[in-house]
Amino acid sequence: MITVSVSFQADFGLDARWQEQWRDAISDPVELLTILGLESEIPRVTDSPFKLRVPKAFVAKMRRGDPNDPLLRQVLPIIDENRVVPGFDALDPVGDASARTAQGVLQKYQGRALLITTGSCAIHCRYCFRRHYPYSDDHAATSAWHDTVEALRADESVEEVILSGGDPLSMSTRKLRELTDQLATIGHIKRLRIHTRLPNVLPARIDDELADWIATLPFNVAVVIHANHANEFDADVDQAIAQLRNAGAMVLNQAVLLRGINDDVATLKALSERTFAAGALPYYLHVLDRVQGAAHFDVSDDEARALHRELAKQLSGYLVPKLVREIEGETGKTPL
Ligand SMILES: *Cc1c(COP(=O)(O)O)cnc(C)c1O
Ligand code: SF4
Repeated sequence: MITVSVSFQADFGLDARWQEQWRDAISDPVELLTILGLESEIPRVTDSPFKLRVPKAFVAKMRRGDPNDPLLRQVLPIIDENRVVPGFDALDPVGDASARTAQGVLQKYQGRALLITTGSCAIHCRYCFRRHYPYSDDHAATSAWHDTVEALRADESVEEVILSGGDPLSMSTRKLRELTDQLATIGHIKRLRIHTRLPNVLPARIDDELADWIATLPFNVAVVIHANHANEFDADVDQAIAQLRNAGAMVLNQAVLLRGINDDVATLKALSERTFAAGALPYYLHVLDRVQGAAHFDVSDDEARALHRELAKQLSGYLVPKLVREIEGETGKTPL
């Protein structure tokens, strides 16, 4: 058993530097299904402008021969996405466009400014609420750091800067450092938050250079990872999170409640427990944003509440994530 998984890793080149692993991600659904021994699923695949993209480190955690594998379901574009479902017609379900205050800056909540640093992600999550976001028109990573930074400097109410995207850790550490060197000149910024899926989907990204960048930041740092299922963790992920913590970051997890992936109490409980074992605390459990093409992942509010109530009964208080929804125009995430 052990020899099999070791040689499997070697085949996948998981020792390669993160940039190589990034480039080596799978983008062909047929290749993915063939690796998993799931050729029978090929007729369910759909062609989508939001292409399949999944690093092999994530594929390595999928179960062979299981079409319902919870990691596979998160990334495989299937024909259900083409269904037109009333209520799921939004391209921008959370009102990002109206919250834009400067190039690449979204400000919805007091004290916090969210930077769309880049449009790229290592993985393409089928339920993503930013799947239709016009990244190419609006992100701060190009040449426009300057305007973004000056907008934050001018607004003294901003105490926390949230690096989001896309995935901010898809940028090189050198670029990240360029940005934070500029943010460091703004006295009213106290906290830096990084929202990233990379510790779970491409843990090699958390390398010494990245840890050194975090360790030397003049802010309190929180890293919010994004895992929806306990199977997204393994020894490499544990090590990545340990490195973030050793660098001084507080590590939190946010998950999305997804039909067919984590919509039962045992799975959610296992997720919280595995998150904590890896060194992170559960933060949010989001109900799905009603974005076009994602209706098949929806769990009703009543069911979500019932699941959450039961979860709270079975877990220590600090392992229970807050159940929330993002509503356009609200002053914070709304508890259900
Ligand atoms: C979610 C979000 C935040 C962060 O909200 P918290 O409740 O502090 O995690 C900040 N800004 C925007 C625009 C957001 O969408
Ligand atoms: S922004 Fe996050 S949820 Fe959306 S595709 Fe990228 S990694 Fe996935």
